[in-house]
Amino acid sequence: MALVEDPVAEPCLPLGTICEHPCLCGGAMQLRDSKYGLFYGCASFPNCEATVGAHQATGRPLGTPADKETKQARIDAHEWFDKLWGKGEGIPESFEPMRRGQAYAWLRHRMNLGKDECHIGLFSKVQCDLVGELVRSKLARMQDRQEKR
Ligand SMILES: [Zn+2]
Repeated sequence: MALVEDPVAEPCLPLGTICEHPCLCGGAMQLRDSKYGLFYGCASFPNCEATVGAHQATGRPLGTPADKETKQARIDAHEWFDKLWGKGEGIPESFEPMRRGQAYAWLRHRMNLGKDECHIGLFSKVQCDLVGELVRSKLARMQDRQEKR
């Protein structure tokens, strides 16, 4: 009798697997298990608390390591970015939401990044702050146009 193989699930990486992205502090990121699931934590924990989420089925890292400040900056950047396709508050009435693909193309162009680099999950705090700035100025221009009507 042949073994039934699961065609979908890739085997998990063994615990102790090192993430290809080094930590912000220069340490290695090691795959760990917690009650919330798999994640990568810095080998220098508890001196360094940087983490990055892991794909629960494959153990692949979901982004690059981030400390608390960077994580919050990525959440904020996402909030700003989402406004481009009409999600969230403070969007001028005259602003026509972009399609998601358009919004990413706009961001890639404005940040001078390639397709593989343009994911907020990979951004540093400085890059995240720039996302906020770019979206704010885009929305502000829309607001101006609206008021001049
Ligand atoms: Zn670290």
